[in-house]
Amino acid sequence: MSLASPNTPPHNPDAPMNFDLGSMHRMLRDSVRQFAEHEIRPVAAALDEAETFSEDITRKMGELGLFGIVVPAEYGGQGLDYMSYAIVCEELARVDGSQAATITAHNSLGTGPLYYFGNDAQRKQYLPNLCTGDGLWAFGLTEPAAGSDSRGSKTTATKVEGGWNINGSKIFITNASCALNKGVTVQAVSGRDETGKPEFTCFIVERGNAGLNSKTMHGKLMWRASDTAELYFDDCFVPDSAMLGVRGSGSKQMLATLDRGKIGIAAMAVGAAQGAYELALAYANERQQFGQPIGKFQAISFMLAEMATKIEVARTMLYRVAWMQDTGQIITKEVAMAKWFASQVAGEVTDHAIQIHGGYGLMKDYHVERFWRDQRILQIGEGTSEIQKLIIARQIGC
Ligand SMILES: Cc1cc2nc3c(=O)[nH]c(=O)nc-3n(C[C@H](O)[C@H](O)[C@H](O)COP(=O)(O)OP(=O)(O)OC[C@H]3O[C@@H](n4cnc5c(N)ncnc54)[C@H](O)[C@@H]3O)c2cc1C
Repeated sequence: MSLASPNTPPHNPDAPMNFDLGSMHRMLRDSVRQFAEHEIRPVAAALDEAETFSEDITRKMGELGLFGIVVPAEYGGQGLDYMSYAIVCEELARVDGSQAATITAHNSLGTGPLYYFGNDAQRKQYLPNLCTGDGLWAFGLTEPAAGSDSRGSKTTATKVEGGWNINGSKIFITNASCALNKGVTVQAVSGRDETGKPEFTCFIVERGNAGLNSKTMHGKLMWRASDTAELYFDDCFVPDSAMLGVRGSGSKQMLATLDRGKIGIAAMAVGAAQGAYELALAYANERQQFGQPIGKFQAISFMLAEMATKIEVARTMLYRVAWMQDTGQIITKEVAMAKWFASQVAGEVTDHAIQIHGGYGLMKDYHVERFWRDQRILQIGEGTSEIQKLIIARQIGC
């Protein structure tokens, strides 16, 4: 399903090629970088250690305009493009994966389905509050027995008088249990055809619904300051007006949402790699062994050269796919490539960053271990690397 970005003109194949970022994107990068350096870097390690989701930072990111990035101004959003979204996710992840996760998930998985598939009344009801930083919205697809195989969902929606009763559970849902959460878009089996094939429909479930309960998941390796939850639906009644789009379109809506979400994951991978690389470069120039900085040893300088090059390639793929999305092109193949490749690069670069730090790289005070931990999810979330390769293989005609 291809859905053009709301805020940019369509693709013009005759336009000249241009790899420059415009002044608006450069200004956005500078302001997010400044914010991340001053507001997030000083507290990132402590929040990670304490597994604490920060409402304070979340609200401040809202004040900076990092919520509703691509949502048009008429619904309270910033009216920017996916290139902006990529830059924001990249800059936050350059400093801290957890805060990047809050913003990345909310903008694509949270507000995305409501904007792209909601009717005007639903958009007006939910989006303005979700574009300020005062409210987070979650995306309920994954279930205990249905991860990569999202069509294996067991959660059901049964038609009753005036609405639907939802029963089942979801797992690993970002932004779903903190106090700022306002609700979730949930995929449920709303019927079966004569052969037993499931029909999927998405529903809007507000926080406070008596049939919805959440439990925060603790003990994560990564994104420890991000909110991850299990959700339980027990005869969770929603009115007919809570259906998102048309009945039976739930799976397509979720997969189209994930296509755009993967731009954010690829951006976080580029950012995490960049952040770890910068720490490693600084350390290599400072740490002395055998009477000289370790960066003078070819083994270390070649490692850094390789890291810098791979980040550059991943970033180029990322920006191209953001541009494709912004100009209304189908991105299924390219975003799977960008997500897979960038998350591989993040894995390699953060690992090299630890190697360059030697034993100190394994100590929390040197921060590279946090980058190494935080990037690990990027090869799993929003479709594992194996699933990305399946998509690419299908797209290239295998
Ligand atoms: C911190 C965190 C946040 C998350 N946030 C959200 C969220 O907000 N909303 C949401 O809905 N989900 C969320 N997820 C879930 C995430 O998208 C899933 O974990 C992911 O899709 C993989 O599903 P799974 O964990 O069940 O693994 P599985 O699907 O069980 O996969 C296990 C292994 O089998 C492999 N595999 C599976 N099928 C195939 C196949 N056909 N071919 C080859 N290999 C295969 C996988 O690649 C993987 O290596 C989150 C997960 C985490 C950890």
